[in-house]
Amino acid sequence: MERKEYEMTQADLDKILEACKPVPYMVVGGVPPRSPQENANAAWAELGSRMGFDHMTVLPTGRGIRCFYAVPNDSQFRCTVCGQIGTVGRCCGLDTREPLNDLARAEVEREHKT
Ligand SMILES: [Zn+2]
Repeated sequence: MERKEYEMTQADLDKILEACKPVPYMVVGGVPPRSPQENANAAWAELGSRMGFDHMTVLPTGRGIRCFYAVPNDSQFRCTVCGQIGTVGRCCGLDTREPLNDLARAEVEREHKT
C-alpha cells in the first residue's frame, strides 16, 4: 500500500517528544520502567490508531517535524459468512461483518449510535 502524507498537531508532537525523553531508572514494585523506545512506540501507536495510519510505516518527509508519511490503516472487517477480509465487509449481507481493528470497531460503534 502507498504511503500518505500526514501532519500531526502540536499537541500530538509534544506527546511524542515527551514519550521519547529518557526515564529515570527506578524499579517500582519490582517492575522496571518502560524504556524511552517503548514509550515512543506506544505514543506513535496511539497516534496511529487515532489518525488512521500504521505506526510501523512512519517515514519523515523532510518538511518539518510534524509532517510524516505513513501507510493508511483502513478499517478491516471479516465476513462471518464467507470469511473474506476487507474494508467493507458486507459481501454476504448487512450484518455479517465483524470488525478486526480499532478503526473498524469505531465505525461499527458510530453506526450503532445513529
Ligand atoms: Zn461474505
